[in-house]
Amino acid sequence: VAPSSTIVLDHRFARELPEMAVPWQGEAAPDPHLLVLDEQLAVELGLDPRWLRGPEGLGLLLGTEVPEGAEPVAQAYAGHQFGGFSPRLGDGRALLLGELVDVHGRVRDLHLKGSGRTPFARGGDGLAAVGPMLREHVVSRGLHALGIPTTRALAVVATGRAVHRETTLPGAVLARVAASHLRVGSFQYARATGDPDLLRRLADHATARHHPAAATAANPPLALFEAVVAAQASLVARWMLVGFVHGVMNTDNTTISGETIDYGPCAFLDAFDPATVYSSIDHAGRYAYGNQPAVAEWNLARLAEALLPLLHEDQEQAVALATEALGTFRTRYDAAYSGGMRAKLGLPDDLGDAVTTPLTGDLLDLLTRDRPDHTSFFRALAVAARGDAAPVRALVADPAFGDWLERWLALSPDGTAMDRVNPVYVPRNHLVEEALTAATGGDLGPVQRLVEVLDAPYEERPGLERYAAPAPEDFGAYRTFC
Ligand code: AMP
Ligand code: MG
Ligand code: MG
Repeated sequence: VAPSSTIVLDHRFARELPEMAVPWQGEAAPDPHLLVLDEQLAVELGLDPRWLRGPEGLGLLLGTEVPEGAEPVAQAYAGHQFGGFSPRLGDGRALLLGELVDVHGRVRDLHLKGSGRTPFARGGDGLAAVGPMLREHVVSRGLHALGIPTTRALAVVATGRAVHRETTLPGAVLARVAASHLRVGSFQYARATGDPDLLRRLADHATARHHPAAATAANPPLALFEAVVAAQASLVARWMLVGFVHGVMNTDNTTISGETIDYGPCAFLDAFDPATVYSSIDHAGRYAYGNQPAVAEWNLARLAEALLPLLHEDQEQAVALATEALGTFRTRYDAAYSGGMRAKLGLPDDLGDAVTTPLTGDLLDLLTRDRPDHTSFFRALAVAARGDAAPVRALVADPAFGDWLERWLALSPDGTAMDRVNPVYVPRNHLVEEALTAATGGDLGPVQRLVEVLDAPYEERPGLERYAAPAPEDFGAYRTFC
């Protein structure tokens, strides 16, 4: 299929769920210019990159000029933020432009962030700054290259408008592509309206879009819930295996599709520690690295509560069904995590849990005590599998690590296979900061070079040593901001 300079946007969400969609449009930008465009993604969407770079394309990417038939909307959703429920959050600074069908026949949302105030903006200014929007571009690109389900950044357009935060920053609009923007919070919103018909339409819409097999199950809403449990268990296991800390796992930032969404105060682990928190607003450590599986399960319990009226006429039985389905989260998560760990350790799939569970548990204890750089550790461990244990011994001082290494080496781990699943390059915090600082000052070179490196995360290349190295001492303790 040749990339097209016409774009057909459907508005199925707005049509099927009008109570959750407020027609709106993007705010004009005083001096727009394109900062980044993911050309490969554009082509995958059937869009011509040259057209996107032109004036009509920029109008689309800002939400100020939309194609005939499109109906951009701000989406309503609710959500638990740090455990507290807000019945009305919604797209305060974002717009769903519409849905399009990509070259593979998949329906994708085209969405903007930073496109101006909407009726959901409350006290917010509706804007976004260049730095955070480029962070979403860099980190989501990194996760995608690691094979982790995620929303994607199609483009970042600088608006020429000043955004006032702690300091004055250049403004930008991010164009984001997602399987959909349905969240746990979308269901909480529908439930809170008290309208059972809206809740059912939302469940049907989500089922058709993401988990179509659930439509033919004996109890479709229950099958939808089970499918979301499975998708989230798999997603969070993937995050844990690469050391990704989302940072703000509120229920409005938990998708129904199982894609990672909303790259705010996110970061990658450097020193291994389950208690790691980077977000400046997460004072209690609710969203610490090691808490992520439990938080995902908690968020899914909120989804179950929202779905209760659909699960069974008798609410006691509905609770029993939901509880049983939620109970599969742990099993699914454990299976995904231990399978992933087995691969990270270069061990065969058929090696039983009786061997790998204690081996992994003991390793995590050692890592928690010694706190080596998470990414470097697994690459150095592959070197040990190939016969040279010196690099990994240099990372973990604990004498008990020698015994662990012997136990593991006795299982004949495959170092080459390890290098295919343990990245050498991840979006390291200091590299991301360095690139965003340069971009905020007008130099996009470091962002471009970083995403090029991240595009091939498993393939070690000469000359890229600084992209594989931990942060220098003077980088200090990392704090992230929304
Ligand atoms: P987030 O922390 O990005 O998940 O956003 C939580 C809620 O705050 C959502 O309803 C956002 O739309 C809203 N929000 C965040 N930043 C802004 C802003 N600058 N202007 C308006 N609304 C915002
Ligand atoms: Mg959000
Ligand atoms: Mg956000």
